[in-house]
Amino acid sequence: MALIEFSDRGLYCPPANVYIDPWKSVDKAIITHAHSDHAKNGNGHYLCHPYTTAILKARLGENNYQSIEWNEVITINGVKISLHPAGHIIGSSQVKLEYKNEIWVFSGDYKVENDGISGSFEPVRCNTFITESTFALPIYKWLPQKVVYENIQQWIKQNQQEQVSSVLIAYSLGKAQRLLQPLSEVTETIFVHGAVWNMHQALINAGIHLPEVELITPLTPKEKLKGCVVIAPSGSESSPWINRFKPYEVGICSGWMQVRGNTRRSNADKGFVLSDHADWNGLLTAIKDTGAQKVFATHGFQSAFSRYLNEQGIEAAEVKTEYGDEDETIVEPNPLP
Ligand SMILES: [Zn+2]
Ligand SMILES: [Zn+2]
Repeated sequence: MALIEFSDRGLYCPPANVYIDPWKSVDKAIITHAHSDHAKNGNGHYLCHPYTTAILKARLGENNYQSIEWNEVITINGVKISLHPAGHIIGSSQVKLEYKNEIWVFSGDYKVENDGISGSFEPVRCNTFITESTFALPIYKWLPQKVVYENIQQWIKQNQQEQVSSVLIAYSLGKAQRLLQPLSEVTETIFVHGAVWNMHQALINAGIHLPEVELITPLTPKEKLKGCVVIAPSGSESSPWINRFKPYEVGICSGWMQVRGNTRRSNADKGFVLSDHADWNGLLTAIKDTGAQKVFATHGFQSAFSRYLNEQGIEAAEVKTEYGDEDETIVEPNPLP
């Protein structure tokens, strides 16, 4: 029996009568994580991890939220529902549904390398696994994050010697938080754009410990910004906002920087291949570890990926959803406060 159907409102579990990450309003929604393509406004009831609830309260305002911890089980109409760490961003979760000896898992967005703040991706044994496929091509192979952080630190040190500001473009929910620790090792003050600041405040208020940051305002003295280190959302590098850091260099953090030419096309001085999604090997390992007999691939390279899985003897099909890859793209929706 299909525990999840692919409806025009989102992923739907008929026996429990709940949707997962619906893109149209529904009565009852389970939300994997707080990125706006997965968590929309207008649902009657939201079930998610407590950290996701905290971020959604800041993003969407008051709603009917219910929080459950990872591995806590709630039962709706006989369907056992639980959340499991997805390692993508703070609060991000996979959704496990169990009914009449059948187990389905929806991954949401995930990454398998532990970033130290998002929880460690947990492989969940299941019969059917619905996986994202944002970077599901063999060319996408991430270096260990430690190496990427060292490259970023090197670049910053070089800039500091030349009194040039380092502006890092990173998604305001996810990579912006991951960068704080490595950046704090090379600078006393981490400056942030308003969009990053708002997210930071929401997370601090939810009780999450993160290194301190300083908000850039029109009143921030220019001398203070000479040779500084800044985190800003994508889009800021091509807005007048960035002029206050002159002279500056721009470094973009995104999985898409793996593709030759993308750094140049995005007008960045440096591209750092840093992603909050699993790479090719990460996806394959995750899928294998679920032991699933059937795999559905969603948002990304789902058609090439499902074809590949079938060739490998894993029964797979592609599914069209309305989730995007905005947490990796070069233009973040409405980054400017
Ligand atoms: Zn996401
Ligand atoms: Zn996604």
